Amino acid sequence: MRKIVYTLLFVLIFIPFWLNAQPKIIAHRGYWKTEGSAQNSIASLMKADSINVFGSEVDVWLSSDGVPVVNHDADIEIDGKKAVIEDTPVATLRRARLANGEIVPTAEEYLNAFLRCENVKLIIEFKKHKSKSNENVLTQKVVDMVRERGLQDKVEYISFGINFINQVRRLDPQAKVYYLNGDMAPAVLSAMGAAGLDYHYSVLYKHPYWVEAAHNLGQKVNVWTVNKPEDIQKMIDLNVDFITTDEPLLVREMIEQ
Ligand code: MG
Repeated sequence: MRKIVYTLLFVLIFIPFWLNAQPKIIAHRGYWKTEGSAQNSIASLMKADSINVFGSEVDVWLSSDGVPVVNHDADIEIDGKKAVIEDTPVATLRRARLANGEIVPTAEEYLNAFLRCENVKLIIEFKKHKSKSNENVLTQKVVDMVRERGLQDKVEYISFGINFINQVRRLDPQAKVYYLNGDMAPAVLSAMGAAGLDYHYSVLYKHPYWVEAAHNLGQKVNVWTVNKPEDIQKMIDLNVDFITTDEPLLVREMIEQ
């Protein structure tokens, strides 16, 4: 009897550690490699929610008339020509169509759709802009929209730009913000108040010890964009906390093996 009790206690104590050890999945630009979806579309967000991954990532820019819009690249094709988002008013940007026929979403529309999601967190990437002032306006507007909808606990931020890390820290000190650019050690990021690092997986091939260093500082480690089985397995073995991927179902299958 005593043996059974000890065994049960052992299992109960270690189950949380075992569960924590599994990386969580973030769908890169939403779950877009599926019927009716497209990168950064509202459909890709809803589809990420439907497959019950941890997060859905999305990229945001500021239009020339100060409206936060969703897109990956700095420019977008409108009527056969490339338009730079920062230099184009939102009314013009709205003429662009995504691969699934959706109108390019504003951040406001995206967040309103996100209110209907039940499972995923939204991982918002602030793209680096031409001027700091545009970056500051973008951060202020997006953080305000998130707060107005009461979504603070369901949104995290990422950026290649240090200015964005500082702006998020200033505007919402509780918010989690991760740095993408791969060039800072965990101790530096910790001093900046970042929640952790979110680096290209090749950076961790070079600095595998950064995972443990980050964990020792209470930080989390995310990696992008991990799509190939050998890289996915390597990141699972390195004990990262999150894997950002275009192949969320493959990553899940490999984690659950
Ligand atoms: Mg992105």
